[in-house]
Amino acid sequence: MNRPSTRDLISQLNSGALTARQLTETHLDRIATLNGRLNAFVSVDPDGALQQADDIDRRRQTGEPVGRLAGLPIGIKDNICQKDLPTTCGSRMLQNFRPPYDAHVVERLRAEDAVILGKLNPDEFAMGSSTETSIFGPTRNPWDQTRSAGGSSGGSAVAVAAGLVNLALGSDTGGSIRQPASFCGVVGMKPTYGRVSRYGLIAYASSLDQIGPLAGDVYGTSLLLECIAGHDRRDSTSLDVETPAWTTTLDQPLKGLRIGIADEYFSQGLDGEVEQRVRDALKAFESAGATVHSVSLPHSKYAVAAYYLIACSEASSNLARFDGIHYGHRAEKFGDLADLYCQSRGEGFGSEVKRRIMLGTYALSAGYYDAYYLKALKVRRRIADDFAAAFKIVDVIAGPVAPTPAFRLGEKLNDPLAMYLGDIYTISTNLAGLPGISVPCGLTAGKLPVGLQLQAPALNETRLLQVAHQFQQLTAWHLETPKI
Ligand code: GLN
Repeated sequence: MNRPSTRDLISQLNSGALTARQLTETHLDRIATLNGRLNAFVSVDPDGALQQADDIDRRRQTGEPVGRLAGLPIGIKDNICQKDLPTTCGSRMLQNFRPPYDAHVVERLRAEDAVILGKLNPDEFAMGSSTETSIFGPTRNPWDQTRSAGGSSGGSAVAVAAGLVNLALGSDTGGSIRQPASFCGVVGMKPTYGRVSRYGLIAYASSLDQIGPLAGDVYGTSLLLECIAGHDRRDSTSLDVETPAWTTTLDQPLKGLRIGIADEYFSQGLDGEVEQRVRDALKAFESAGATVHSVSLPHSKYAVAAYYLIACSEASSNLARFDGIHYGHRAEKFGDLADLYCQSRGEGFGSEVKRRIMLGTYALSAGYYDAYYLKALKVRRRIADDFAAAFKIVDVIAGPVAPTPAFRLGEKLNDPLAMYLGDIYTISTNLAGLPGISVPCGLTAGKLPVGLQLQAPALNETRLLQVAHQFQQLTAWHLETPKI
């Protein structure tokens, strides 16, 4: 499969070798051919996309200015609001919801003239690691359609991997951009908490949620991040910091770079082939002049427990608004008001979402709050402190993204604990608010992609993207594409 890079597409569009309409039509055709099998898109907006493409072509012809993403086909995870188009969160609860406004990131995409093709399948309310809990059914991994795309931004990763779009947006609360990127062989990045506005992202766990880019390579990832980052007063946690021009600083050589590896990330349960690919990546870095150092993240063994307590607690509060009256699906048959709430929520939410609401409500209730929620917050602080200590001696921390390559559809669906444990390497990044990225670092013998995770100190996306980009100069794994 030929999957052109973001940079190639931009130069073809700029030179006039390709029009935005041609590029949009090619991608709409590809979606029509492949989406039945892959189930990455849950809604497609051909009319809106073609109209936008024509407008860009017209402006280019008349010499009017166009944005940095002009003509590039992009897809958006279906938990990010786009005016007048369905935004369902993969849930029956929001099956008929059409937001009256655009999310901040969608406004940014429009301002930069990206061509938005449609919405991408998530796990229901972004709760999951496999994109199997959506009402639209599972997204399939293009490398092996019997396998999971990862989650919860599975639709976003598959759309990029299969060339249905050039760029995609996902959200990462506990690995939901990085893990599907790793399973599908694309680049996915979670920015520093507060770097990208959450305005218009339907909240799962607000202290952890962050929107981020997915692309075929680090250049595309950096460009998309550049376009969506920046202060927004409608999100009180949005940071008022400058947005660097990351695409212009990617060529920093690796010499002198200090890479940390945490023993805790090479633990029991890590698949042998995944470990080997990650160790090969470290050797490649060393050959280019970087040095590798051991660091310790001793509290990471508590990360899964702390994360699921905090995320579920916040979810139980955030999802309280879906009561069938203010928001969400309303049951048709009910007795009194309390029964209307119960019936609406009972019908609207799927079983994984219900499990989390119950867990979170329990953890926050009087008598248990100190033992669970408060304790989890204390662990969260320790985890952040571990990173702070490690980043005194190294510039970035490298390791696996997930303990295994893509697992089979259905394999973990009825075993929530097994599903949760697979998040072990990604969730600490969110608990500590740090930026993290997954870049392709190899294939298993069975031809499944493996991702390398890199983590950096808060707000040091510059270094993170440089290191990831330099890795792509040393290896060609990001150029591997699935045969569909
Ligand atoms: N797998 C994690 C969860 O289920 C992370 C999800 C996410 O990042 N949205 O909560």
